[in-house]
Amino acid sequence: MHQPAITQLASADPEIAGLVEAEAERQYAKIRLIASENYVSQAVLEATGTVLTNKYSEGYAGKRYYEGQQLIDPIETLAIDRAKVVFGVDHANVQPYSGSPANLAIYLAFLQPGDTVMGMALPAGGHLTHGWSVSATGKWFRSVAYGVRKDTGRVDMDEVRELALAERPKLMFCGGTAIPRTIDFPAFAAIANEVGAVLAADIAHIAGLIAGGAHPSPVGHAPVISTTTHKTLRGPRGAMLMSDADHAKALDKAVFPGLQGGPHNHTTAAIAVALGEASKPEFSTYAHNVVANASALAEALTARGFDLVSGGTDNHLILIDLTNKGIAGKPAAKALDNAGIELNYNTVPFDPRKPFDPSGLRLGTGAITTRGLTVDHMPKLAEWIDTVVTNAGDEAVLKRTAGEIRDLLAGYPMPGWG
Ligand SMILES: *Cc1c(COP(=O)(O)O)cnc(C)c1O
Repeated sequence: MHQPAITQLASADPEIAGLVEAEAERQYAKIRLIASENYVSQAVLEATGTVLTNKYSEGYAGKRYYEGQQLIDPIETLAIDRAKVVFGVDHANVQPYSGSPANLAIYLAFLQPGDTVMGMALPAGGHLTHGWSVSATGKWFRSVAYGVRKDTGRVDMDEVRELALAERPKLMFCGGTAIPRTIDFPAFAAIANEVGAVLAADIAHIAGLIAGGAHPSPVGHAPVISTTTHKTLRGPRGAMLMSDADHAKALDKAVFPGLQGGPHNHTTAAIAVALGEASKPEFSTYAHNVVANASALAEALTARGFDLVSGGTDNHLILIDLTNKGIAGKPAAKALDNAGIELNYNTVPFDPRKPFDPSGLRLGTGAITTRGLTVDHMPKLAEWIDTVVTNAGDEAVLKRTAGEIRDLLAGYPMPGWG
């Protein structure tokens, strides 16, 4: 059963309640390897389901436009103070509705339409909002993109520097959605300083690893940092912008009144709860276990002949190029889902196939680590993945695997289900 119990919902709206229960059961029964997902704690779930959703509070603590902020102000202040402690930053804004609007606020704060932004190309692992052509950020700004080297699958910092010197961006992004390797924040900072660009580190994927000390921090290198709160950080769906003191005011103004109206106070409370969890020693253990699990899974997959982009991983994320396995990403992802292993098909760098039918699979170990799986489970997980990918059309194999996975997961409680 969903936890906390949804008894009122079940009687008021059985149709929605039934779907919510079924989704909770689905999350319980599957090995969830989508690199941007996780399981939040029941405390975070409870905070998101509170009466805070009833309240409007445009503005910032002490400077609101509506009355009745006696309790909203301390909640938002707690979230901000905890963010400052967890990440060691001068300033935090916890109001962005999600990662994409957080990034849009950075453009609004520091660029004029038509100014040049430089970010990682989407097919190389960057995010849409780093200036990719189909995004508003690629339509309203002049965008130049760096990629990865074909031979290493890694960012070439010499190439980034050359491009920056030639194109003179006002804003540079580092970070992305499908980068299996450590981001070299000092090297990006040196280039941004040389060309006079604002460096924004988008740590959406790796925020939890940074909070737990399992990935280097951009603080002290990137004056502006954006992150979602719901990926490895294991909070509610939301986002934060963090910065040094010099960039604080422009970011706050860009979020409100520049881009948003009232903040989502139930989300703010849940962010505060998640940051409280992230400041505990157990969270550091979790973050290091996420990386250890990814590393062990990468090793086991490599031993089974899988071709990993960049040859492995330093963080929570693995990108598989399936070309040598004779199957495309999409049918492999569908077969795996039917077999109880949930991940996403993904473009690989220099992919000869189309974005909607690419060559790769992306997976991450955040959620399975929260669930309690350890390095000892990774060889078996690699075996399941291999068996399904090489027998993708064999319904009996998929069914058998799904059953084996259900049996394993029965020993690992899920927050939000019980
Ligand atoms: C997920 C992600 C985002 C966007 O977050 P949403 O909450 O989905 O809008 C932005 N940047 C990076 C690097 C991401 O991984």
